[in-house]
Amino acid sequence: MYDYLIVGSGLFGSTVANRLKNMDKKVLVIDKRDRVGGNVYTENIEGINVHKYIICHLIHFLKYGMML
Ligand SMILES: Cc1cc2nc3c(=O)[nH]c(=O)nc-3n(C[C@H](O)[C@H](O)[C@H](O)COP(=O)(O)OP(=O)(O)OC[C@H]3O[C@@H](n4cnc5c(N)ncnc54)[C@H](O)[C@@H]3O)c2cc1C
Repeated sequence: MYDYLIVGSGLFGSTVANRLKNMDKKVLVIDKRDRVGGNVYTENIEGINVHKYIICHLIHFLKYGMML
């Protein structure tokens, strides 16, 4: 039994899941893709992390995290 179901394992879903886990909540994260990370997913090709979907060059965070 889970406390929370999070749809989407992008930056937002992953961050919220991590925060909830740190609060001892049981979290299930599902995603329609067969990989985690959403649009910032990268593949390591010959030692270099290559973006597969978009080219994020800098990820901006709020002072205390994205939401919680
Ligand atoms: C071209 C481009 C450049 C960008 N550059 C930057 C940058 O330089 N710096 C920056 O801070 N931000 C940048 N962004 C924004 C960046 O993409 C977001 O900040 C961040 O990746 C969004 O994360 P997210 O978790 O909200 O969404 P996403 O990364 O889109 O994750 C959503 C996840 O939900 C899943 N999903 C969606 N619908 C369903 C469903 N029905 N069922 C199951 N799973 C589902 C998707 O498969 C995906 O894995 C850029 C965006 C674009 C388009």
